[in-house]
Amino acid sequence: MRPGKKGLNKRMETTGQLYILSAPSGCGKTTILRKVMANINGLAFSVSHTTRSPRSGETNGVDYHFVTEEEFHRMRTEDLFLEWAEVHGNYYGTSRPAVLEQLESGQDIILDIDVQGAAIINEDKSLDAVSIFVAPPTLAELEKRLRGRGTDSSETIALRLQNAAKEMTAISRYKYLVINDRLEDAVQTMQSIIIAERSSCRRLADGTSIRLEK
Ligand code: ADP
Ligand code: 5GP
Repeated sequence: MRPGKKGLNKRMETTGQLYILSAPSGCGKTTILRKVMANINGLAFSVSHTTRSPRSGETNGVDYHFVTEEEFHRMRTEDLFLEWAEVHGNYYGTSRPAVLEQLESGQDIILDIDVQGAAIINEDKSLDAVSIFVAPPTLAELEKRLRGRGTDSSETIALRLQNAAKEMTAISRYKYLVINDRLEDAVQTMQSIIIAERSSCRRLADGTSIRLEK
């Protein structure tokens, strides 16, 4: 295959790889992800369930499945979440059936989840997740981005900044760190991580048949 924008990243395994992406809110994770997903094939985004209200521009079923607390807790008691957590005063959860189905179909999946959810997924060794933490260059820059985004109230921004400092103490539990200073560099680094993981011999050994005969 010619190394083109898509061909270079062709997957070779039979089951998908799970990626965990965590970052303090506002440091640019969504912006990076949109660009990475446009460039890399075979990579899907897991749409979480949340009890928080949609922000302007967010679409139900695309950015999140927006549900009531009642619905969320019903799903929780029915064990429909691979992980769930309370973040910034709202509940968030990853759909177990959706993620497992997509992985089985050979699709790589990215979970955009907080550090609590990441710890739960990492504990489950059968999921064999690759974890990536996206950090802002400084907390001052993070505050600037949160204010610049214009989607959160001052109180929400204050809460998110407080949580950011706490979340960043979990960085050492992740496999990779991407610092989102220049956007293009961060996108490039994220893509390189995924391409490198797809070339890992440990993973290829399971699902790829390499013909050795003439
Ligand atoms: P998150 O998904 O992590 O909450 P967003 O992707 O919504 O964050 O980004 C928050 C704000 O920061 C947005 O207004 C976005 O345009 C801006 N932003 C993202 N990356 C950068 C960057 N590298 N430099 C400057 N601004 C950025
Ligand atoms: P936001 O409200 O800004 O979209 O997300 C707030 C935080 O919730 C982010 O850190 C995001 O990664 C996290 N989050 C989103 N979906 C999930 C999920 O399904 N599970 C967990 N544990 N965290 C999530």
